Amino acid sequence: MPARTAPRLAARAAAIPPSATAALDARAKALIASGADVVNLTSGEPAFPTVPEAARAARTAISEGRTTYTPAAGIPELRQAAADHLNRHGTAYRSSELVITAGAKQALHHTFTVLLEPGDEVLLPAPYWVSYPHLIALTGARAVPVQPGPGLKVTPGAVRAAVTDRSRVLLLNSPANPSGVVYSRDELAALAQVAVDHDLTIVSDEICDHWVFGRASFTSVAALSPEIAERTVTIGGVSKTYAMTGWRIGWAAAPAPVADAVTALQSHTSSAPSSISQHAALGALTADLRHELEQRRSELDRRRRITVQALGNAPGIRVDGDPDGAFFLLADVTGTYGSQSAGRTITSAADFAELLLTQANVAVVPGADFAAPHHVRISYTVPTAQLRDALDRITRFTRALTTGA
Ligand code: PLP
Repeated sequence: MPARTAPRLAARAAAIPPSATAALDARAKALIASGADVVNLTSGEPAFPTVPEAARAARTAISEGRTTYTPAAGIPELRQAAADHLNRHGTAYRSSELVITAGAKQALHHTFTVLLEPGDEVLLPAPYWVSYPHLIALTGARAVPVQPGPGLKVTPGAVRAAVTDRSRVLLLNSPANPSGVVYSRDELAALAQVAVDHDLTIVSDEICDHWVFGRASFTSVAALSPEIAERTVTIGGVSKTYAMTGWRIGWAAAPAPVADAVTALQSHTSSAPSSISQHAALGALTADLRHELEQRRSELDRRRRITVQALGNAPGIRVDGDPDGAFFLLADVTGTYGSQSAGRTITSAADFAELLLTQANVAVVPGADFAAPHHVRISYTVPTAQLRDALDRITRFTRALTTGA
């Protein structure tokens, strides 16, 4: 018998580690399942239930047998509802420019696949969401991080300085994961102008369009001008707004040649997203949920303010940038470097996160994979009692550190 060997993986598979956030979330959940009193602040989803209108529409779709393949770009009513959703932000999308995908993640994957050639470069403002560089690398292109200035925002000058003759795409993500920063309309217009000047396509990930707080306001990049819309692919979906992460419905909205190419690709990769989930998303998008969504927004805003205030009392920790959106913030932990807990010296954000988990039972994500090596990402979406408990633990942990206990 020939020796048994595992199938050889392609180099591209070997280059893709599992998502750091998913790994930490899984570790925290496993600890909780084993009875440990851990508070999990790693989550990438709002801690609200899926809006009931979505679940109702899904049940109806099942009972009425709307369970067969749909058109590859999604059911026409949902494409229209998604276009209407976007156009409320001032864009002018036609439903034919919308492709419904299995989450914003698949929309990004398909968009990069149809836009990028091997060797192309994507300008990626740092800190960035963990999946972007891997989704880009899968196409043979390369992510070129652009370092932020004060407030964790990139400047047009920094983006311009990173442009080469291989630059093809500028990625924008506001509200941003992991920092929670929200770019103003003027800031986005100035960044988009760089794309216009250098003939770049803009991929604007607007998955957290609903989660904007205080005086900040959301701007959709494609609403800036028709000239900018022509070179923009808008990524979005229902995952975060309607607490529908598990339903896997997102979209790419783009000029017809890009939308058609994404549709053709999708017709081979998944045929289309789940018909049941598409009907659920349609239920959410067409119901009048303004009151419910507004309540959720003010609840999350309250949790955000509690978090920022409490972290202000934690020695060695500094909230960086203005976390005016999404449901995360980045805390700079360099102030804890050199101090000790359980006989271990903290020399990195990864050490900080590890000790916080093992000594204080709070899970946060170290920022290295977000290109924020001295920060940890804190997701403040958990219910208030748990959040306050976690923030107390963080404060006690850091106080013990700074007193050398
Ligand atoms: N884009 C960003 C910035 C995200 O944070 C996430 C999810 O965490 C996604 C895209 C993926 O969204 P979806 O669940 O719709 O695939």
